[in-house]
Amino acid sequence: MKNLFKCWSNDTDPINIPTFYRIVQSIIFNRPLPYCHFSPGCMLTKHYLSVDWDGSISICNRTSSLDNNFFKLADLSKINTLEKAFEAPVISLLNNRVSKLKKECSSCFLFSKNLCQGGSCPFLAYVSGNIMAHPPNCKYESQLIKWVWPQVVKYKKLALNILKEGDSYDKEDPSRKSDFSWNSVR
Ligand code: SF4
Ligand code: SF4
Repeated sequence: MKNLFKCWSNDTDPINIPTFYRIVQSIIFNRPLPYCHFSPGCMLTKHYLSVDWDGSISICNRTSSLDNNFFKLADLSKINTLEKAFEAPVISLLNNRVSKLKKECSSCFLFSKNLCQGGSCPFLAYVSGNIMAHPPNCKYESQLIKWVWPQVVKYKKLALNILKEGDSYDKEDPSRKSDFSWNSVR
């Protein structure tokens, strides 16, 4: 991944790799990465819900792809409001999990830089064998972004000035419309 980032950042006309753009932009704007597993917790915020073709409600399309019902929250035909789905027993397990893991997040580079709010994906933890532990991606993403960080912060002021001058920064999808070019600040 580091080699891919190196190639991408050295490219005079880089292709759109949204993850890399978002890492760079989150560092520049000092905000959490816009992915669910960097949120404060996908069930804590109640920002995510997936309804399958048969009315099964789960957290997201990843949890609903499992062939057991571990993450199933409810059947659409048996509830009157979607709020009821958040009363499923697994919700308190997931919220307790986030509270427990957040204590460990305090030593994580991403947490210290406000790039992750400690959500820690329960799906990846579950398929990795321990729902109550951080999944392996925490370590790998943290390593990658820690390595990227110093390369971006040295251009942060310049990049902010460039972005202030333009009006095309798109908060919904920064990678699509931004004038920001990694190479324009070199
Ligand atoms: S379970 Fe993981 S992939 Fe699904 S919404 Fe939560 S953090 Fe995202
Ligand atoms: S260990 Fe780091 S990457 Fe993982 S949830 Fe905590 S702050 Fe986020």
